[in-house]
Amino acid sequence: MDIKIVKCTPDKLKAKPADESKLGFGKIFTDHMFTVKYQDGKGWHDPVIGPYAPIVLDPTAMSLHYGQEIFEGLKAYRGRNGDIYLFRPMENIKRMNASAERLCMATIDPDLFMEGMKQLVLLEQDWIPRGEGTSLYIRPTMIATEPALGVHPADQYLFFIIVGPVGAYYPEGFSPTKIYVSEDYVRAVRGGVGNCKNAGNYAASLYASQKAKEMGYTQVLWLDAIERKYVEEVGTSNAFFVIGDELVTPPLSGSILPGVTRNSVIELARSWGVKVTERAPSMSEIIAGIANGSVKEAFASGTAAIVSPIGQIYYQGKEHIINGGKTGPLTERLYNEILKIQYGEKEDPFGWRVKISN
Ligand SMILES: *Cc1c(COP(=O)(O)O)cnc(C)c1O
Repeated sequence: MDIKIVKCTPDKLKAKPADESKLGFGKIFTDHMFTVKYQDGKGWHDPVIGPYAPIVLDPTAMSLHYGQEIFEGLKAYRGRNGDIYLFRPMENIKRMNASAERLCMATIDPDLFMEGMKQLVLLEQDWIPRGEGTSLYIRPTMIATEPALGVHPADQYLFFIIVGPVGAYYPEGFSPTKIYVSEDYVRAVRGGVGNCKNAGNYAASLYASQKAKEMGYTQVLWLDAIERKYVEEVGTSNAFFVIGDELVTPPLSGSILPGVTRNSVIELARSWGVKVTERAPSMSEIIAGIANGSVKEAFASGTAAIVSPIGQIYYQGKEHIINGGKTGPLTERLYNEILKIQYGEKEDPFGWRVKISN
């Protein structure tokens, strides 16, 4: 399918941010976006890269009422030599389609997704920042657009991709976070949609996140919804602990989002000879392990930060400090290695990096 390209007229182009140290996250978007529509019987049609603009929806558009909305998050990186790379984009495409299936939405042809994303990033390549740790964030999204009330799978969808420059996550070096264990509220339950990037999961997480922030914590550590004993995730990232000589992370049991970074951390650590075990540690094991020193490191993994060290955990009214509140050696090594692979500064033995510039 040919993608039609409708460029903004020069007078409509936005000014690019002057100061790369002030990019932050999620506030600046480029001049163009990719859109493609779906209708039952017709399939995906009319792919266009056109001006970034508001979307017009009927007030009954089903995504607004029944939550058929899914998204993805990945980045384009500019290497020192000017080349542009994506990191494991096929994993995001597969995950988007897995989310689509679970929510009875239309799956999208992976080649069309990839082509739309690639062409958009290349068209907007002057927006890709050059500072260390900066990147162009890519947000593919799908919404149900069928104008009708009544709960049923929609027969019309809009898929779009927007992109915007984002700053370095650690402009002043690593700073371990303080996290709050939520015992009263849960994010997702096995059999639900916790393993999909579906809007409702994030709405469900806000209340506990707000409580955590009010108490001075940056993230919530989510426990399993049934026993409220076992670690699941940290905020919108996957959870890892170094316990003894093992790297431990909860298994993909259905309520956990299968992070691309999670998988990369597991593969990389295994390639270094680190024993990686997929099991969900209980909070009592973690707390006892922090006290006796067997829990040596803790971190969260995700596209935004790669890894985010955890320095303190608040659980049942007490503060527990991990590794003296400092970033652990394995956490730091994983961060540096993945960062270098993403920016083309290191060999890529796994074939994760995809060069999209000529
Ligand atoms: C996106 C996300 C992650 C991390 O996934 P990555 O592919 O590594 O960015 C983890 N947990 C949740 C809930 C998420 O939404």
